[in-house]
Amino acid sequence: MRSVIDIVDLSVEEIEALCKKAIDISENPEKYSEACKGKKLATLFYEPSTRTRLSFTAAMMELGGNVLGFAGASNSSAAKGESFADTAKTVSCYADIIAMRTTQEGAALVASRAGAIPVINAGDGRHCHPTQTMADLLTIYKEKGGFDNLTVGFCGDLKLGRTVHSLLAALSRYKNIKVVLISPKELKLPDYVKEDILEPNHMEYVETTSLEEAMPSLDVLYMTRIQRERFDDLAEYERLKDNYILTVDKLAAAKKDMIIMHPLPRVNEISVKVDDDPRACYFKQCLNGKYMRMALILMLLDIAKKNPVKEDVFAGKGYIHSEHKCNNPKCVSAGEQELEPLYKKIDDEGHMRCVYCDIGEPSK
Ligand code: ASP
Repeated sequence: MRSVIDIVDLSVEEIEALCKKAIDISENPEKYSEACKGKKLATLFYEPSTRTRLSFTAAMMELGGNVLGFAGASNSSAAKGESFADTAKTVSCYADIIAMRTTQEGAALVASRAGAIPVINAGDGRHCHPTQTMADLLTIYKEKGGFDNLTVGFCGDLKLGRTVHSLLAALSRYKNIKVVLISPKELKLPDYVKEDILEPNHMEYVETTSLEEAMPSLDVLYMTRIQRERFDDLAEYERLKDNYILTVDKLAAAKKDMIIMHPLPRVNEISVKVDDDPRACYFKQCLNGKYMRMALILMLLDIAKKNPVKEDVFAGKGYIHSEHKCNNPKCVSAGEQELEPLYKKIDDEGHMRCVYCDIGEPSK
């Protein structure tokens, strides 16, 4: 049995197979309309969502399965203080697979280790959002014919936007990818993403504050929303929120076959007039997301049927136990009952990173 917490839990070969399966599903929906008959997907959404939750729901319904769950932490026993581990153990009694979204970074990993059914991370704080990346990858695959030799511009909130971090991790495995990181200085890509993803994979990247200057070189422009809910200081959000607005005029400098992506929701970053441009792909991404989620549910349920024993994803990794708590206050380990701090070594100088959130370090 397997779960998908991070996009790199799926191999490059599996991504390719999932893209092909998603395309087959979109072309032959009737072939799959009873594929999950009798199966149940639990959607555990502690944070707001439109596309992810509804596309998971639609995906399971179109596979002939059923869906149960909750939207909003206040509608679950989380409001009474229940841990993610206990929730996962409970939901394992009622469903066959879980899709979960949380504010706490690393919560889906904790749930996948505690429960007895596969868990799909539907977004954990500013950490990861693998199924959005699957939607993004299918869009690139269909529109650009593959993933090699692309110059990809990421624009907006590169610090707090989890979709950026996950798509960078996915792209780091392809050939000759150039990355242009376009953001205000305050919202630059965090060092831990550079150190863990860009640098070890020798990805070529440049940082700039100018969308206009970057535009002519791009094959893909990935716009993002400034993540209001993750700001500690709302005055800073107000100052930064309208820094980048993609307009029809700005697009004049772009390649004729550049594609415009956005994980949505859009909050002013793309003029509505751009929607009519044939290069605008953001609503195609929504549809692609549903087909990729269908393909993923099929894959994980099939693996669970063939081998119901859970893979121990920590086995053989040499993780280090410590009594020092992770210093990231949004890490799942900050609130989860009796979760022992666990770290991985990131260099030879003794620096360590939390295994759950990939962000924090042991507090001194
Ligand atoms: N819907 C995406 C996410 O959940 C992007 C966003 O919210 O800005 O991360």
